[in-house]
Amino acid sequence: MNQVNPKKYNSTLYFEEAVEKKGWWQSHRFLILRRLCQITIILLFALPISGVNSVLVSNQEEASPDLTAIFLDNLKNEDDVRNDQLWIMKGTLANSEILSTVPMGDPFVFVQSLVAGNLYTLSGILGVGLVVLLYMIVGGRTYCSFVCPINIVTDAAAWVRRQLKITNQLSLSKRARFYILGIAILVSMIFQVIAWELINPITGIFRELVFGGFTITNIAVSLTLVIFIADIIGAANLWCGHLCPVGAFYSLLGKKTVLYISAPKISACDDCMDCYKVCPESHVLKPLIQNKKIYIEESIIPSVGFSDCTRCGRCIDVCPERVFSYDISTQHSPIKQSKPKAKVS
Ligand code: SF4
Ligand code: SF4
Repeated sequence: MNQVNPKKYNSTLYFEEAVEKKGWWQSHRFLILRRLCQITIILLFALPISGVNSVLVSNQEEASPDLTAIFLDNLKNEDDVRNDQLWIMKGTLANSEILSTVPMGDPFVFVQSLVAGNLYTLSGILGVGLVVLLYMIVGGRTYCSFVCPINIVTDAAAWVRRQLKITNQLSLSKRARFYILGIAILVSMIFQVIAWELINPITGIFRELVFGGFTITNIAVSLTLVIFIADIIGAANLWCGHLCPVGAFYSLLGKKTVLYISAPKISACDDCMDCYKVCPESHVLKPLIQNKKIYIEESIIPSVGFSDCTRCGRCIDVCPERVFSYDISTQHSPIKQSKPKAKVS
């Protein structure tokens, strides 16, 4: 097993050793892939295949309607102003169509809509079903790391936090996001509004990016700025790891998935802890690290078993010893418990 000289590497720049041992690309490839994916999704919604976006430019108010209980009417407004062009993706992250044919719907918006008394059309239900199926395969929180635009902001905040060596950590339960999720559904039911969409910074900032009109007075822009600052000075991963009900909802979709992160080369781990330090949900790696010896002795290849894992691939990127990789669930044992169960052949 390789030994690391702890003094050689800066403890705030987790990937220094990985860059030295594997090269820059191997230490950043999934980060780059995620950014490309997030930016491409925004561009697919923002740019028509043909036609000029003139209606949106001349009618900003209609292009960025306030979300109210009549959410589906708002989507219709967006359709109205975009009907004269051909789009790869039309709509927003909450509700969209691929090439004006395949519907896609956010399941959290669907649940709020349902309890608020709004019925979806058959194609709307199909769209939600497709999204649920997709995230049940790749893991619900893959939405966070490969789709959500706020993730770019919170990753940037984490980077600033590292550079400034800020270590303070507000004490806040990770369960808070599930309470907020429950409250959002309850408020939707009582007031018959799609409650979280009234303030959701994800769809808010996405609308600003896609439809334009980016101003500091906009509630989504201001809220995103607050998230950025709070993530730097409040606690590591404060928003995504503790408060965001959308991430919480998607983690519920990822209880049993096909795609996992596993540690096939766990015997090469030299305890540098870079994976643990960079992971946005570090508790998911704890059982693997804690019980490393047992897994090696019993020839178990452990996989991350918690649905909080965003499949971001940062642990793969930053590990200098190439311990981690993406994996298919049926091959290895997903680990949730802090004490390993009996040997898996
Ligand atoms: S936790 Fe919420 S804000 Fe963060 S990446 Fe996931 S969906 Fe986006
Ligand atoms: S375990 Fe790896 S893939 Fe999962 S959230 Fe942590 S760093 Fe990302």
